[in-house]
Amino acid sequence: MVMKKLEHIGIAVKDLSQSNALFAKLLGKPHYKIEEVASEGVRTSFFEVGGIKIELLEATRPDSPIAKFIEKKGEGIHHLAFEADPIQEKMSELSENGFSLLGEKPKPGADNKEIIFLHPKTTNGVLVELCQEKK
Ligand code: ZN
Repeated sequence: MVMKKLEHIGIAVKDLSQSNALFAKLLGKPHYKIEEVASEGVRTSFFEVGGIKIELLEATRPDSPIAKFIEKKGEGIHHLAFEADPIQEKMSELSENGFSLLGEKPKPGADNKEIIFLHPKTTNGVLVELCQEKK
């Protein structure tokens, strides 16, 4: 099953408002929304460039996955998100093909999405997110 598209690129940042200003200068336009996903301990902001979104991720608590990521690796690219629809079908296909999924079923993410991650050990060190618009 073919991935629909590269939906967004997630970037871990320490300070969302500073990074919003930085990326606005870089891209020539401001972020278009900010959204908090309390269950994941992240606050996100979104930019759009040529149909692809940039998702900045800031931790809202010390035990958030983003806080741990920054502690280990510093700020930077956190994940690539591919749109898969239907996501369940892609998940089954990938696990049958030896990819390791982080979880049994998709969970709520930012931007009205259901998401699930693949373990980077099975994807050349790249954290890959599958996402699908909530229906
Ligand atoms: Zn994402």
